[in-house]
Parts: sequence; C-alpha cells; structure tokens
Amino acid sequence: MMRISRFNVLVIFFLLTVACIRCGKTDRPGLVVFIVVDQMREDTFDRFQDLFRHGLRFLREEGVYFSEVRHDHAYTATSSGHFAISTGRFPGKVGVTGNYLYNRENEEKRYCVEDLESSVLSGNSRACSFRNFSCTALADWVRSVSPESKVWSVSVKTHAAVPLGGQDPDGVFWFDFNSGEFITSDYYMSEYPEWFFRFTQKWYPDRYFGQTWKRILDDPALYAAKSRADDFFAEAREGTGGEPSFPHVLPEVPPENPKDYGCLEEFPWLDETTLNLARTILVEENLGKDKFTDLLMISLSMPDLIGHRYGPFSQESMDTFLRLDRMLGEFFMYMDSTIGIKNTLIVLTSDHGCTPLPEFSRTQGHEAGRIDRFLRGYDAQLNRVLAEIWGEGRYIEVVSNNSIYYDYETMAEKGISSGEIDSVLVPMILKEAWAGKVYTRRQLLGDTDLDRYGRLWRNQFHPENSGDLFVTPEAYYLIWGPFGTTHEDAHDYNRHVPFVLAGWGLEAEVVHDSVSTVDIAPTVAYLLKYPFPGDLDGEPVRF
Ligand SMILES: [Zn+2]
Repeated sequence: MMRISRFNVLVIFFLLTVACIRCGKTDRPGLVVFIVVDQMREDTFDRFQDLFRHGLRFLREEGVYFSEVRHDHAYTATSSGHFAISTGRFPGKVGVTGNYLYNRENEEKRYCVEDLESSVLSGNSRACSFRNFSCTALADWVRSVSPESKVWSVSVKTHAAVPLGGQDPDGVFWFDFNSGEFITSDYYMSEYPEWFFRFTQKWYPDRYFGQTWKRILDDPALYAAKSRADDFFAEAREGTGGEPSFPHVLPEVPPENPKDYGCLEEFPWLDETTLNLARTILVEENLGKDKFTDLLMISLSMPDLIGHRYGPFSQESMDTFLRLDRMLGEFFMYMDSTIGIKNTLIVLTSDHGCTPLPEFSRTQGHEAGRIDRFLRGYDAQLNRVLAEIWGEGRYIEVVSNNSIYYDYETMAEKGISSGEIDSVLVPMILKEAWAGKVYTRRQLLGDTDLDRYGRLWRNQFHPENSGDLFVTPEAYYLIWGPFGTTHEDAHDYNRHVPFVLAGWGLEAEVVHDSVSTVDIAPTVAYLLKYPFPGDLDGEPVRF
C-alpha cells in the first residue's frame, strides 16, 4: 500500500478531509452515496489526471483507491456489472446472463428487470422492478438490521437503478425516453411523492432541445493530444447528433411535434438531471439527518451511451468525463453543505469498461476487426454445415449475449446430442480469426478446471437462461455493428474498473491488492458493520 500526493486538490476538499482525519470516523455515516459510472475504464483516472479538477480529482487523491479491481464474469453488460456490484454474487448465480434473457419455451428475449405484474406510474414504457430476483443486495442487508434506513436509487437506465435498489427500497427512478420523464413502477410506490412533480416540472428535458454540445475546455489541441483526431472513421455517423465531430447540435423541435427523447442518448447532458434528482431526494427525504444510515444509489449512464457511439479514445468520451468531473464536484460540495462529507461515505465504481474501436486499435498496432453482434449470416453458415451432416432443419435457435442456443426440438427429432453438435461447431468457430475461446454448456456445468476465460463464463452461467456455446472474441475484435463499439466480453479493458471509497474520515490510500467487483458490497457492509449473507461469491477487502 502506498500513500499518494495530497497536493493540487481543491482547497475546500483538502480542508474538509483534514478536518475529517482530525475528528476521526464515526461508527457509521449518516449517508452512503453509492455511484456507479456506466462504462468507466480504470485507465480513465490516469489518462485525465491532470485535467480532472473537481469530483473525480477529489476521489482519486483523497479517497481509498483500489487499482486492481475487475469484474469476474465473461459477459460484461450493464446488468451483469450492476448485479455483481450490488449483490456480491456473480451474475450467473442470480440468473443475469445479460440485459436481455432468452426464454427457450416461448423463444422470446425478455428484458431482465421487466416486471409483468407491475405497472408504471406514468410515462409510456414497460414496468421494471427487482421482482424477478430472489437474491438480496447491499441495501437489503442494511435494512435487515436498520429498517429505518432510507434507500433510494436513480439512473437513466432501469437495469442499473433496479439492481442497486435491491428488494425493498423506498424508491427507484429511471428515465423514460418515450415521455421524457423520470418514472417508476407500482412495485416501489403507489403514487409519486409531492416533491417529484415539482422536480419533473423544473427538470423537464425540453431544456436540452436547441442546445449545442461543444467541448467544455477551449483547447481542441488538448483534446487531440489526450484522445485522437476528432473525426475518426467508425465513430457513429447516424442519429440526431449527425456529424462525427464537434460541435454536435440537437435541433430545436417545434412544440407541436412529438419529441423523440431517444436523441438525448447522443448527448452527455442527462446525467445532470439524474444528479439533480439525487439532490432533490437528499433534501426532500431528509437523507443523512438521523442516526440510521441512508443509502443513495446513483448510476450515471451517459459515459456509456457516448462511449458506444464514439469509443473510449474519442474526444466526445473525454469531454463526457470532464463534464462528469465537474458535475460530481458540484454534487459533493452540495452534499457537504447539507450533510457534511465527514458524515458521508462515497463509493464509486463502474459496471464495465469498453473495447476500443477496432479501426483505432489497428492504428495502435493490434490485429483487430468486427463481427456482427448476433453473428447474423455466420449462424446460417454454421446451420448449413450441421444440415449437411444431419439433414435439413433449424439447429441453431438464436445467438444472444455472445452465446449460441441450440434448437432442442430439432435435436430430439433427429436424435442428436449437444455433444455431437459441439464437436462439429467448436473446432469450426475456433478457426475464425475473430474467435478467441469457445466453451460448451457441458464444460461450464462440469467441475473440471477451466482456463481464465472459462472460469469467467462459469460465473456468468445460469442453467435455464444460458445457451449452449459461449464465445469470447480475440482481444481487440468486436462482436458489434459496423460503427461504434461496446464492452460485453471478458478482455481486461472491459473487466478492469475503478473502485474508490472516500469521505467519512477515510484517509487517502492506494490499495494494489486484487479485488473482484463481487467484493464491493460485502466490503461496504463490513466497513459499516452491517451483516451480509455467508454464501456470497465476494468477501470484504480489509485495508
Ligand atoms: Zn453499454
């Protein structure tokens, strides 16, 4: 463990932290602010360390910074990451094989947090909740001994806000791109609190129409030096934002036209609204004001939505993190003025990293390429080979979450076993330049030792929801569309994420021990002296 430099931090934070160290930690803080940044590679802090001046700078220099934290599952999607972080269990163990779960019986993909028994209180989209999951989360462990503790969770994304809230929070809000409002379902509450209408009125996102996204710092050369040329091939070109380079203009929409709030996914602004909702909850629900520790869970989605379009080394992604740094700085200062940093434990981590655009990786000397997200065309090719052996038929039902699902009906009709199909397909797929590793259902169900990627797939595996073959592409290859990028595989750039604990009198420290993201929830519980289930996949990190 190593102590890091305390210089160059905003004076206010410096003074606050010194004050905290002097007064020491209380038994438990009044508030835990638990922040998940959607798509934040661990190297983000290093790349922009001299440009971060606000919230992210405070966390990196004044917090306990864990430098070797990784997701230990193979399909690094948003839902997988959030469930691992909040429940302390591998996503496969709780049934989360991806953002969408494939149901073999009706051959349908269903959104993992969709709740068919609940209704939304407003807006025009599906109801969501924690109902599909029997596991508990950090918030539930706290409430089990302290029912008076309040728990609120907010995010643009449902499959981020829901896992963080756990079984029985006071409220969970997410953004409905159809209506342009934050909404919830009646799983959580029967009607909105009165303050919620005032918030919605004040923060309705119509404010963003007609705005232009310009670089937040004036110096384009700085952006080029810290990222790359602004207009880069394979950055997304379609959509409202249109041009692949700054400035990005969101057109004014005439009031008589229905608004497509989906276009807000292309701009970094919505997290400002998410943090303002968190602020409103803080004040209106009196969080952190009594002896019962409250939890405010926040997942910030815009780095992910921007990252998908432009890639992690784009100027747009850089600008989004510079904005996040400022937004978090303002948020922490607000928190300090209301509750006090010394009475607040801040947790920050991320649900996954991001794969660089393959076209950019090639400029860096890597072999890299793309294959369609659902292996479209390729699955037909595999099927033709199987049909040549066993006769016409549909052998492959679907490709989902980097996994191939066999058609069990065809197999039964023809009297073929999975093992027979495996023995044809596995060597065939492995011949492809883009295919790094392939594992079979039998391998994941068995107890023989597997290599690293196999172990990561085992942590993602669920007997009902998972497929039959599991593919990890070669490093720098991407299973995605023709433009933009994603995460979702088991390479280090997608697994390696930051984890920081700060505030509450903690002293700055860098911990280099190897940590899994399933350790995060039990670490926070242990630190705050709350019980946690004995059969978790993670365990507390002592530092
Ligand atoms: Zn994503």
